[in-house]
Amino acid sequence: MIKTDIIIIGAGPVGLFAIFEAGLLKLKCHLIDSLPQPGGQCSEIYPKKPIYDIPGYPSVLAGELVDKLMEQAEPFKPGFTLGEAAVKIDKVAEDKFIVTTDKGTQHEAPIVMIAGGLGVFEPRKPPIEGLENYEDKGVEYIIKDPEFYRGKRCVIAGGGDSALDWAIYLTDKNIASEVSLVHRRSSFRGHLDSVQRVMDLADQGKINLITEAEVVGIDGNDKVENVTIKHKTDGEFKKETDHFIPLFGLKPSLGPIADWGLEIEKNAIKVDTRDYSTNIPGIYAIGDVNTYEGKLKLILCGFHEGTIALQSAFARIYPDKKNVLKYTTVNGVQGF
Ligand SMILES: Cc1cc2nc3c(=O)[nH]c(=O)nc-3n(C[C@H](O)[C@H](O)[C@H](O)COP(=O)(O)OP(=O)(O)OC[C@H]3O[C@@H](n4cnc5c(N)ncnc54)[C@H](O)[C@@H]3O)c2cc1C
Repeated sequence: MIKTDIIIIGAGPVGLFAIFEAGLLKLKCHLIDSLPQPGGQCSEIYPKKPIYDIPGYPSVLAGELVDKLMEQAEPFKPGFTLGEAAVKIDKVAEDKFIVTTDKGTQHEAPIVMIAGGLGVFEPRKPPIEGLENYEDKGVEYIIKDPEFYRGKRCVIAGGGDSALDWAIYLTDKNIASEVSLVHRRSSFRGHLDSVQRVMDLADQGKINLITEAEVVGIDGNDKVENVTIKHKTDGEFKKETDHFIPLFGLKPSLGPIADWGLEIEKNAIKVDTRDYSTNIPGIYAIGDVNTYEGKLKLILCGFHEGTIALQSAFARIYPDKKNVLKYTTVNGVQGF
């Protein structure tokens, strides 16, 4: 059981900044995110795009903003459970919640702050019969740790940056023993330099590039042993492999958040704008995941909401302590 002061569900920009604001109040945070890395939409959807409306930054790449937020949070030693979705919140006492993930990891705290953005990013799965039976038995939709594929034969499917980048990485670093990249079309959607690199590696015989083709079948006893590939003109053939990794992107869905007894409106959590609390005392919702009159789904609005919510959370945890607002210019940053 991981114990902390504040469990933050969602490690997007808003959840990350909340660590800093909690730290100023001497409250410790533990974050849970279904993605394998922090940063939410900024890391997953547009890491290389410049953002122009973060105060004090005339322009900052989304990925760079995430790095800076991590750096700002670092003195407060946050904990992270990454690559796991929070699926259950149990209120076991007036001041005690237990949050459980899909992998069974349990977290306990007096406060839960939901910073779940657009919800859990779920993988887009190809329509292959029996695919689910091989999940975690050779079928993975996200590459969490490339070392997992050391010495293995991998068939990656997809035509975007994720498929291209991982095919290159697993080949260039000599991790996988064999990499095949299967894509429906002859052209790719990813960055031009990544496409060129894949072409070069294919010419050198290091990537087995199979275009105008789709993986249509999968088989094996206890784990993946073969995939069936259907080529537009050459028909079907089997390919032996240890892993099948379809990388067709992720789609957001509110997911388990919708089942926690929270008041939901317009696919978001209704909050009281005095402190961004939800209808369940002790649970707050900040950032894109909440809704109220005049709501704007902007990063800077989420930063404000987290700051206000944490003041309220502090008063809940320490009802007898007076909290006087202290400027960072006066007090500096006293880490843990
Ligand atoms: C292309 C694009 C451009 C944008 N440009 C701008 C801009 O210029 N300026 C601006 O202010 N905003 C911009 N935005 C919007 C901005 O990205 C969002 O407002 C911001 O990401 C919201 O942050 P968040 O932390 O609330 O949520 P998110 O960034 O969505 O992060 C939420 C996290 O919660 C996780 N999560 C959800 N449910 C669970 C669960 N049950 N268990 C575990 N984890 C969970 C998700 O995996 C995700 O990582 C843009 C968005 C897009 C898509």
